[in-house]
Formats: sequence, C-alpha cells, structure tokens
Amino acid sequence: MTDFIGRADVDLGALRANYRLLRNKTDAKIAAIVKANGYGHGLHEVGAALADEGADYLGVAQLSEALELRRTVPDTPILTWIYGTGASLAAAILSNLDISIGARWALEEAVEAAKATGVPARLHIEIDTGMSRGGFSKADLEQTAEDILRAEAAGLVEIIGLWSHLARADEPDSSETSRQLNRFNEASSLLENVGVKPVLRHLANTAGTLWHPDTHLDMVRPGIGLYGLSPDPAVATAEELGLLPVMTLTSKVIVVREVPAGTGVSYGHTEVTEEAMRLGTVPLGYADGIPRSASGRGPVRVGGIRTRVVGRVCMDQVVIALPDGVEAGAEVVFYGHGGPTADEWASAAGTIGYEITTRLGRHVPRTYRGKVGH
Ligand SMILES: *Cc1c(COP(=O)(O)O)cnc(C)c1O
Repeated sequence: MTDFIGRADVDLGALRANYRLLRNKTDAKIAAIVKANGYGHGLHEVGAALADEGADYLGVAQLSEALELRRTVPDTPILTWIYGTGASLAAAILSNLDISIGARWALEEAVEAAKATGVPARLHIEIDTGMSRGGFSKADLEQTAEDILRAEAAGLVEIIGLWSHLARADEPDSSETSRQLNRFNEASSLLENVGVKPVLRHLANTAGTLWHPDTHLDMVRPGIGLYGLSPDPAVATAEELGLLPVMTLTSKVIVVREVPAGTGVSYGHTEVTEEAMRLGTVPLGYADGIPRSASGRGPVRVGGIRTRVVGRVCMDQVVIALPDGVEAGAEVVFYGHGGPTADEWASAAGTIGYEITTRLGRHVPRTYRGKVGH
C-alpha cells in the first residue's frame, strides 16, 4: 500500500484545448514540446493525446526520453536534441527519431550511426543565434557546411530542419528576438549557398508563437502554453491568454489543531500566531516538489476558501491556515482547477511556472481525465 500524499489530476481535454488555441495562432506546423516528462504531466499520456490531436511533431529534449516516447507514439515525427558524445544514435535512427546536431562531433557520430544501421539519419541543424547554449556558431557552421552536404550527397543523412531557440521572446518589445531572426536567416542563406536546403525552419517557443509572428517560419515549438501556463504572467496571465490549467494538484488535511496566540509554527518558528487560529497539516512537502521558498506564502484553497502555507515548508508536509468548519479529510487544492494557479505558486516561490509542474515528484500519482489517444 502506498501512503496517501496527494494527487495530480491531468485534464487532457484542457491540454487539447490549449493545443487548438495555439494551433489557431499560426499557419506553421507545430512541434508540441513534451520534454521533462511532459512538463511533469506524464510523457506518454501527454504525447499520445497531442499526437492524436494532430501535432505535426513531438519534441523531447533527452534522447533516452524520446526513445521511450516512441514506444507509445509510433507514427508522429519526434525531434530530440540532448545527448552526449557516444550516445546511441543508431538506436535513435532505428526508432525513426529526428536528431538535432549542433556540433561537428554530432554530425560525425550521426554519419557513423547511419553507416552502421544502413538507414540515413534524419537531422535538424541547430544554430546558436543568441542563447549561447547549444548549436553551431556561425564560424562552426561555415566550417561544417560542406561536410553536411557531402554526408547528404552520400545518402547518409537527410537534412530535415534548421533550428534555433529564442532567449527573450517573453519580452514582446525586446529587439533581441529580431536580431536572433536575422542571424537565423544568415545561417539559412549560408547553408543554401552551399546547397544544403532544410525544409523545416523552426525557432519559436510558446512566447514566440504568441508574441512574435515573424518567428513562426515553417514550424513552431510551443511547450508551456500547452500546459495552460503563461510564458510570462507579467506580460499576460494564462487566463488572459485563454489557456486552461491542465494539472490540478490536491492533497488532504490530515491533522487539525487549534492553537492560541503566540504559537510558533514549523521549523525555526518563522511564524508565530498573532491570534488563536486553526491549523491543518497536509502531507506534501519539498521532497514532493512543493518549493520550500514558498514558505509562509504558498497559496492553497480548502473548504472553498483561499488560504496559505504557514511557516516553513517541511520535507513531507506543510501546515496551512485552516478556515472554520474545515475538518480532517478536507481536500486541499494547491493549484489547478478551483484553486490558485501554478503561476501564483511560482510567484510565491520566486520562480517560474515551468519549475512548479516539472519539479512535482514522479512518485506523486497522476490521474488522467479526457481522451489519451484513439
Ligand atoms: C523547452 C523548449 C521549447 C518550448 O519552450 P516553451 O517556453 O515551454 O514554449 C521549445 N524549444 C526548445 C528547444 C526547448 O528547449
């Protein structure tokens, strides 16, 4: 038997509605990003639902996760871009994955894997246009372009895509996005002049999809918006964007106590009650993914009333202020339908919504509503 700690309900209907909302923002193809276990929502369920909804591509950062996803999603193209030297690109090729290359060694290893399997590698060339993270620099690309062409001419690789990633697309006014687009177009011309012609050029994340239509190119790669969160609530909240929350995290009150004024609560007594009050103990803590930095602030809803974490978040528990009439067994909504938003938790914790759902422990049970696949 597993102990009750809480539950994350994942609403695949809301996920699909968010996909359709983003679908209507662009004429480009969509690569739905499902990395990091579908932003914590569940790789297979989210991937299968989005494939069923018509996503042109699925995007998964880590190669191992992409291989895993291929087992539930047999037909939709899957793009993967994180692996190190010596990774099994042969397995990727045999699983019909699209592989990103962002360095000469990656091209060389893809070519070797193609020779070993007898199947050409489907490649997307990543270029660094301003993230300073992954991808060919302009100089690297100049040096490698001819080799890419030769590998393609030899039938060892197919150059499917050219891509890069936006650093500041959540700032609608930042001129960095147009500089990145310019660098992207330069790289595209450089390759074209050599004779390499990728058919799918892609650059935009959710923020690019929403706020920079000129970055849509042939395909966009939204992630966070699919999960009903805003890329930047300071620009527009999820609600203002019309995005629906997908994950609802709930637990239950397991201990109720009434304490007099002057009672210290949780480690360090960072809070001492100012008046007599009711406290409830809830069995989710930082080991489950509740950020300790939201101590004393994290919002919850219980008995139809919004309240908050009192004192420090512990490893497996939090103490909350409990409204009158709420007893042990009452449901506590941390975020999602009928509760605060994950973005409010992010704000309470000094982080971003992305981190709130992705950090939720894999051991916290997920349940699914709505249609997964066919
Ligand atoms: C995470 C990621 C995305 C999606 O970004 P969002 O901000 O979640 O929309 C797109 N492309 C790449 C390469 C990524 O790593």
